[in-house]
This record gives sequence, C-alpha cells and structure tokens, in this order.
Amino acid sequence: MRLTVLGCAGSFPSAHSPASSYLLEHDDHRIVLDLGSGAFGALQRHADPYRLDAVVLSHLHPDHCADLCGYYVAQAYHPDGPRPPVAVRGPVGTADRAAAMFGMRAEPGMRGAFAFADHGPAYEIGPFRIETTPVVHPVPAYALRVSAGGRTLVYSGDTAATPALVEAARRADLALFEASFLQSGQNAPGVHLTAREAGEHARAAGVPRLVLTHLVAWNDPAHSRAEAAAAYDGELHLAEPGATYAV
Ligand SMILES: [Zn+2]
Ligand SMILES: [Zn+2]
Repeated sequence: MRLTVLGCAGSFPSAHSPASSYLLEHDDHRIVLDLGSGAFGALQRHADPYRLDAVVLSHLHPDHCADLCGYYVAQAYHPDGPRPPVAVRGPVGTADRAAAMFGMRAEPGMRGAFAFADHGPAYEIGPFRIETTPVVHPVPAYALRVSAGGRTLVYSGDTAATPALVEAARRADLALFEASFLQSGQNAPGVHLTAREAGEHARAAGVPRLVLTHLVAWNDPAHSRAEAAAAYDGELHLAEPGATYAV
C-alpha cells in the first residue's frame, strides 16, 4: 500500500496543511481516509477524484468530513453531467450530516453523488479490508485498520487514550496516530491523545513505524516529536502534507 498525506493539520486547517485526509493506493485502487477542511484540493493534486473507490470517515467532525461539500459539487455539477456515485462509509448518520452541512433536505441529500453506507465492524472495498473499532471521543468515532497486499495500516482517527486503540493496532506495519495534545497542556479529558500517549499506544501494539498526525497549529511539532520519541523506540515520523509512505 502507498499512503499519501493529503492533510494532517489537527482540528482546523493550518497555514500549510488541510485538515485530516489520507490517500491509500494499492493495485490501481484508491480510498481516502477522512476528507477534512481543505483536503479536496489536495486530493486533486495526488489522484483523480473521479477514480476513487471510496471515502472512509473516522467520524463526523468537520475537520474530518467537511470537504464532502466540495466533492459533492464536483460530482453533481460536472460539465458532462452528474458523475456516478462514489462510495462513502462512515458512522451512522453520515448521509444526514452531509446534507445538513450543505443546508439540503435530508432526502435525497447528497445521495446522487455519494453511495452512503454505515461502517459495521468490517468490510472490503476493492483490495482493501477495513476493520473498525470504536474509540473514545465526544462523538461516535472509529479507529480504522486497513489491510491490502498482506500489509496493514491503522489510523486512530480522533481518540483519547484507550486500550481499544492498542488492540486495533496490534502488530500492524504502520500506525497513523493523532497527537493533538502535549503532556504539558491543559487537556480536556476524553478527546485526544498527547504525543506521548500516541507513542505509548504504538509501542504497546508492537507497531514498528509511527506517523504522528492531527498536529494542531499552536503546538511546536518538534515538541510533539520529542514527547512521542520518549515513549516509542520504533521509526518515528511527523506527517507532512504530500508525504508518502510505502506501507
Ligand atoms: Zn479532528
Ligand atoms: Zn474529532
């Protein structure tokens, strides 16, 4: 699998990155994990949005799904006519949320442009097998374990510290974990990981590579990296827009 970071800014777009979005490619198939604010532009830089197998949403906060709105316009108003629906997998209520973001009636909402389906515990999209694990966040949120070609990536989505994330990530090849908080911060409980916790969870899961993401603009990335490195001795990266990883 090839992972391309489309956006890695936490909670809101930063001056140099869209909010959360990650392109996964394998065997001429491609899915996008999350499509946060600003990410649809970056998607067009790295892939043809009309050749996407699916968008897979970790949860329905705007920094993870807001650019369904731009994607909808590109689908529905293409000069050659409406494009075939793109699959969108997400938490229960994704179709209604998408319609509400655009000020549409819930029916049909964006159903002409997207084929919505609820996650369920596991499913396949082309060569990708996706397993979902509920994690800890103020709204229903899922860690996404994605396997293809015998390799596995686990994306935390947004979550507070939880053994469920360790289980979801067990012996994966790459952990893409959020690191919104720093240990020194005034951190609201039950919302996000600190960079140190991201490192601890990846170490406990036995994952050899960790990419820290959902990096919030007001944190010093070097500080986040140092905090994670103190708890994790594998290969450690900070996500950057446009960065690619062979998983
Ligand atoms: Zn977020
Ligand atoms: Zn969130």
